Parts: sequence; C-alpha cells; structure tokens
Amino acid sequence: MVNVIKEQQGSKTIIRLSGSIEETVNFDQMIGALPPELVINCKEVPRINSVGVKGWIKYFQTAQAKGTKITFVECSTAIVEQINLISNFSCGGTIESIYVPFSCQKCKSELVGLFKTEDLKKMNLVIPPVKCSKCGGEAHFDDIPEEYFGFVSR
Ligand SMILES: [Zn+2]
Repeated sequence: MVNVIKEQQGSKTIIRLSGSIEETVNFDQMIGALPPELVINCKEVPRINSVGVKGWIKYFQTAQAKGTKITFVECSTAIVEQINLISNFSCGGTIESIYVPFSCQKCKSELVGLFKTEDLKKMNLVIPPVKCSKCGGEAHFDDIPEEYFGFVSR
C-alpha cells in the first residue's frame, strides 16, 4: 500500500509517496487530475517491483506527454536503482536529489545522505565521508560509484 500526501506550493503540486510501489498502486487515482507541475518526493519508497515500475512509467510518460513538468526529489536508494536500470524511468523528468548509501566503518551502521544531482556532478562523483549518526565514526559511500551514479553522467 502506498500512502500519498498532496501539497500545493504555488504552481507546484507536491506528492509525497510512502510505501512499496506494487500491483495495487494506481497513480491516476492517487494523484488525480494532472497539474502543470508535479514534484514527486520518493524518500519513503523502500521498494518498487516490476509491475509497479510499469505503472510508474505509464503514468509519468502520459503526464510528460500532456505537458506536465515533472521533478523527482529525495529519491530513495530503491528508486535510484531503477533510474539506473531503466533508461526511461524518469520519463523526461528531472532527478533533483537522491539518497546516497553510506556505511560506518566503526559500528557498521548503514545510513543515507541526501545529495543534489547538480552537486554530485560538481563533486565529480567523489563522495566525501560523512559522520555516523550513531557513533560519530566515519561513514563511507557504500556502493559502486559508476553504477550508483550511472544516471548522473547519462
Ligand atoms: Zn557508526
């Protein structure tokens, strides 16, 4: 089940998705009439399966074809995976920011940090370590840069 929180900010309609995107997800029903500008917050999407992906692409492709400007923000690691795997997953929309996985060298905790796509480009995909929120140790980027940031250079 996916829960949707809808919020209007000027001309932008902000949609906060939370939950796994699967068979039962009906974007038409959840989002309603297409606004001129859609901002999709994907922070709380832990999982999306293949049927969910199909529904996602169908909905956002239609939205894009109808002239809706689409921006994806705070994409979870599950969403970033799909963006990298499926070249048209973002359906012409802008990927504004993504969560990046880190793992602490000291206590082995896994954590995520939010980065803007624009800043990742500037960093040349070299991600500096962050401070672990649990023990204060050094947490390092925990994936393969060429894969996790594949979409950035596309
Ligand atoms: Zn730690």
